[in-house]
Amino acid sequence: MSEIKILNKGEKFAHASVGSVHGFEGKQFVKDATGATSCEISFGSLPSGAAVPFYHSHKANEENYIILSGSGRFQVNDEVFDISEGSVIRVATNCDRNLKCTSDQPMTYICIQAKEGSLGGYTMTDAEITERENKL
Ligand code: ZN
Repeated sequence: MSEIKILNKGEKFAHASVGSVHGFEGKQFVKDATGATSCEISFGSLPSGAAVPFYHSHKANEENYIILSGSGRFQVNDEVFDISEGSVIRVATNCDRNLKCTSDQPMTYICIQAKEGSLGGYTMTDAEITERENKL
């Protein structure tokens, strides 16, 4: 299991890293390191042939799985489908889910967990262009 490291922290931001997602093993939750208040983000990795060892369901939060590498199968209740690098799977509340790596290489993924129905304004309705000096 890789260790999450806090790299930079300011009044308005926190920068944490789990390191290389390609050498990653197991599951690493990010919220405590960054202080996120709107969602929980976790990095996961499954070796070839492995599935998460249990099915689970959420009462209030939906989950969005983003597959970064590898491929496999995803199950929601009794429905099963193929997933691969680039897949994004949204899973609603109150249903069972699991995923399995069927590729030769490990499957790495990110899971973002957030309160179902909580997204109000976003991008064009929530963001505004500001006049900050560019120091990059
Ligand atoms: Zn979950």
